[in-house]
Amino acid sequence: MAKKPINDAADLIPDRPTLDKVRAAAKNCEACDLWRRATQTVFGQGAKNAQLMFVGEQPGNEEDRTGHPFVGPAGKLLDRALADAGIDRSTVYVTNVVKHFKWEPRGKRRIHKKPNASEIAACRPWLDAEIALVKPRAIVCLGATAAQALLGRQFKVTAHRGAFITSPLAPFVLATVHPSSILRAPDDEQRRLEMKRFTNDLRIVASALSSREPRA
Ligand code: SF4
Repeated sequence: MAKKPINDAADLIPDRPTLDKVRAAAKNCEACDLWRRATQTVFGQGAKNAQLMFVGEQPGNEEDRTGHPFVGPAGKLLDRALADAGIDRSTVYVTNVVKHFKWEPRGKRRIHKKPNASEIAACRPWLDAEIALVKPRAIVCLGATAAQALLGRQFKVTAHRGAFITSPLAPFVLATVHPSSILRAPDDEQRRLEMKRFTNDLRIVASALSSREPRA
C-alpha cells in the first residue's frame, strides 16, 4: 500500500483559492520529500488568464536558485521557440508537474533526477489548482514526464507529439518534447532539426488558438 505523505498538498489549498494564494501556500508544502534538498518551491508563473499553459517536469538548477520556472537553458530555448512560433511569452503560463528540484550530487554539480510516481502524485493538487484557476484553452505537455502525468502512463510522446489529444483538462491538449532534450542533441545539425520540429509543434497550438473554436 502506498505510504501516506506527511501532509497532503490538497489540504494546503486555501478556501476560495486564487493563484497568488495558492502560490503562497505551496511555499510551505512538505507533501513529499523533495522539499528537503531543494532551495524553494518553484510554482508556475505567467499570465493569470493565459490561453496557453506549458507543463514541464520539474524546476532545474537555475529555477531552484531563483524561484522562477523556465529561466535556465531549457527555458531560454523555449523563449526562442515561442518567439519563432509567433507566441508572446508574456501571454502564456509556465509550470511543472513537480514544484521542487530533485537532484543528486556529481562532484560540485547538482544533476537533475527524474521525479518518481509518488512524488508526481503528491504534487498533483498544485498543478490541478493552477489549471482550474488559469483555465487555459490549450495545454502543452513538455516531455514524457508531464505528458504521462496528464495523459496517462501509456502515453508516448514519440508516437503522438504534435497531435491534439482529447482530454477534460482543456479544449486543446498536445504533447511535445521537453526543450532540455533539444539541448542534449548529439550535434548542431540534430539540434537545429529538433528545434525546428519543436517550433512547428508550438505553431500547431498557436494556429489552433487563433482559428478554431474550443471543443465542447
Ligand atoms: S515536490 Fe510538490 S508535493 Fe513535493 S514537497 Fe514540493 S511542492 Fe510539495
